[in-house]
Amino acid sequence: MAHRAGISLGSNLGNRLANLRKGRDLLVNLMPEGTNYLQSGIYQSDPVDCPPESRDFYNAVIEIDFIGSPHELLEATQGIEYHIGRIAVSQRNAPRVLDLDILYFGNITIDGDILTLPHPRLTHRRFVLEPLSDIRPQLILPGDETTVGEHLRKLDSDEPELSIVQTMW
Ligand code: ADP
Ligand code: MG
Repeated sequence: MAHRAGISLGSNLGNRLANLRKGRDLLVNLMPEGTNYLQSGIYQSDPVDCPPESRDFYNAVIEIDFIGSPHELLEATQGIEYHIGRIAVSQRNAPRVLDLDILYFGNITIDGDILTLPHPRLTHRRFVLEPLSDIRPQLILPGDETTVGEHLRKLDSDEPELSIVQTMW
């Protein structure tokens, strides 16, 4: 059975636009034939809690159809990260070619050592909520009562607004 899965894409190393495009294309390749995906625009965000001199991030969200389990999707997204050139580094929040996080997987909730769903920091991150609101403003995550669009409006506005890099990509 297919589930709709939301995935965030982020890059702050190398050719950021090309990295997001490659990630998007490989994620779309995982889908069964004849299904549709949704994709947000690309936003630029300041690096948060990152080493000094880290570049801005390019962030986007896509929603795909996936046949298989959440852990199989995690294996696939990690395979794509490494294929595109992410190297394992111990430094926390080190610059990365491509970071793929699974935001939600249908209505499934998991609280595990290697996978937590929905993604626990989703509703606190403007760089996730803003692109996600492009494609799914009415979405209510499992275990929640508030829509994604509402979470975005209620965010602490100390954070600077994101700038849009491009809507079509
Ligand atoms: P981060 O995304 O927090 O910057 P990493 O990409 O290095 O850091 O991810 C660290 C670990 O987070 C992964 O190895 C994975 O096992 C775990 N993880 C837990 N929940 C999720 C999720 N929903 N999506 C992606 N990774 C997750
Ligand atoms: Mg990640």
